[in-house]
Amino acid sequence: MIPAVMPTYARADLAFERGEGAYLFGTDGRRYLDFAAGIAVVALGHCHPHLVKTLQEQGSKLWHVSNLYRIPEGERLAQRLVDSTFADTVFFTNSGAEAWEGATKLVRKYHYTRGNPKRWRIITVTNSFHGRTLAAISAAKGEKLIKGFGPLVDGFDQVAWGNLNELRAAITDETAAICVEPIVGEGGIKTATPEYLRELRRVCDEFGLLLFFDEIQCGYGRTGKFFAHEWAGITPDVMCVAKGIGGGFPLGAFLATEEAACGMTPGTHGSTYAGNPLATAIGNAVLDIVLADGFFEQVERTGQQLRAGLEALVKRHPTVLEEVRGKGLMLGLKCVQPSDQMVPELRAAGLLTVGAGENVIRILPPLTIGAAEIAEAISILDTVCAARASKAVAHA
Ligand SMILES: *Cc1c(COP(=O)(O)O)cnc(C)c1O
Repeated sequence: MIPAVMPTYARADLAFERGEGAYLFGTDGRRYLDFAAGIAVVALGHCHPHLVKTLQEQGSKLWHVSNLYRIPEGERLAQRLVDSTFADTVFFTNSGAEAWEGATKLVRKYHYTRGNPKRWRIITVTNSFHGRTLAAISAAKGEKLIKGFGPLVDGFDQVAWGNLNELRAAITDETAAICVEPIVGEGGIKTATPEYLRELRRVCDEFGLLLFFDEIQCGYGRTGKFFAHEWAGITPDVMCVAKGIGGGFPLGAFLATEEAACGMTPGTHGSTYAGNPLATAIGNAVLDIVLADGFFEQVERTGQQLRAGLEALVKRHPTVLEEVRGKGLMLGLKCVQPSDQMVPELRAAGLLTVGAGENVIRILPPLTIGAAEIAEAISILDTVCAARASKAVAHA
């Protein structure tokens, strides 16, 4: 019999009743160190007091009015995002996929508005992930994402990740934009080099394309800058954001320059819930913390400490771990063997992580962790790796 909750997820048999900072408390009575953070969503840890207070205050004042009216909390959040990024304008959404797809519509509308309606195709790269809507799976093209869901949405041409020759060769007079994740998340924590991102900018300028970054996972402070592309010293024309932006409350956004958004006039796009007073009040509370002095520097320092610990583990357990990937607190441990067993082993030992492509274990802790949590995570990883290494020897 089919479960009441449609069985599309391979869930662990584990539930939680409470969270506090980097810890989750299971209904099994155990405490877990949460280095998955709801897949990079709970960026400020569970039940951050400032977010709880905002939720309670706004929750007893006003939740939802629709986009028929002005929403001061949303106007304030949009202005703060504009003030701290390349963007001139922001559209709020309820999820990452909705943000990605809205940005895709913006790209098409831009060229249409500029008198180039034939320019509507977007170049994407292998190993990418942009969400689960029909257009987002059509763009990412991963086998597991698309099987059985065809025919796909047309208009997405894929080239190999990191390959600029292939990318240049794929540009035609129908190409509208290039879309990449500056750090690939689901695909296995692959960090684009600054040179690659700068070359993408150059190619877009040369051919009149929009540069479109998906920073849903790598953005919002996770790498030690507000957005990951800042490390390369370039800016995109359009960018989608979600995950960390609401700290656990469903919220996303796409941001664009004034020029790129030239076609997004009244009536062209919408979403009933999106950017409501409750969601955007919480978005502002998240920004209060993320944009406070020293926050990004702290993430960078913490990321370096965690990375050093992980690098030491790779040296100690070369038969289990191959390398550390990523930047800031968006880190990946590439395993020698398939990683699908390691995530449950770590969970049983009290550490929550999340799998990714290429046998990578994603380490995505709250951005607020400190030295004690890092030490605890490294110690659990060390124990689990040692058990794996000795098992491998016993089998040999
Ligand atoms: C999570 C993610 C998405 C999709 O976000 P949803 O909120 O699940 O729709 C899109 N792109 C990237 C890079 C992501 O990590």
